[in-house]
Amino acid sequence: IIKAHGLQKYFGTFHVLKDIDFEIMKGEVICIIGPSGSGKSTFLRCINQLERIDAGYVMIDDEIAGYRREGNRLFPLPDREIARQRQAVGMVFQKFHLFPHRTVMQNIIEGPVGVQKRPRQECIAEARVLLERVGLADKANAYPSELSGGQQQRIAIARALAMKPKAMLFDEPTSALDPELVGEVLGVMKELAASGTTMMVVTHEIGFCREVADRIIFMDGGMIVETGTADEILENPRNPRVKNFISAVL
Ligand code: ATP
Ligand code: MG
Repeated sequence: IIKAHGLQKYFGTFHVLKDIDFEIMKGEVICIIGPSGSGKSTFLRCINQLERIDAGYVMIDDEIAGYRREGNRLFPLPDREIARQRQAVGMVFQKFHLFPHRTVMQNIIEGPVGVQKRPRQECIAEARVLLERVGLADKANAYPSELSGGQQQRIAIARALAMKPKAMLFDEPTSALDPELVGEVLGVMKELAASGTTMMVVTHEIGFCREVADRIIFMDGGMIVETGTADEILENPRNPRVKNFISAVL
């Protein structure tokens, strides 16, 4: 459903992503681990067109991100079309980025009503189902400042889901949370994974990876160094860099 081929990214002269090839199938859960600065966030941001890529391409379903194909030629898409493509991919960040002056309900329906122009009543009804799903049915009228970090992150997940994305990207969704709040967010993510959501998750939560990942990708120095099942990567890594990293975080 998402594919990257020959992906290269530079920040100035700094080569951040070096020839990344990647594919995630519908319903698959892929966890991305690796040391700080290895390019994990940049990789997710390239997939969601928050960063411009310097070579290679990203495909979402049968569309090339940022381009329209005509015969053998590619034409850059206008911003409006890029915004439409970006709706296919939901993203949840370390920081929750909720609108502080809007209620939980207003935050959740902003995308589907304001951007996708869908009927308000329908979106409100769907938002109630999503709130139920993230365990916050009673918080529709609360403001973000009245919620804990874990609750805010669950709202951020509901808000991303409200756009009905084809895939969800998570960039260290629990690393800004107090330890006692991590579990409730991972619980929601486990439920999403179990119900067939296509997910890419950058995380340091190795237990979560072991439990839900169909595949784990280890990134280092802007490259995918090793990829495999949780057993392969966590129990029997072949690459010494992976082995060192795993033994340091476990
Ligand atoms: P972490 O685990 O700390 O979140 P990461 O694997 O997500 O790390 P990235 O945030 O993708 O790493 O960053 C990869 C490299 O690119 C780092 O060396 C970082 O300093 C650099 N970098 C990231 N964003 C920019 C930017 N906007 N301009 C210049 N350099 C950047
Ligand atoms: Mg990062």
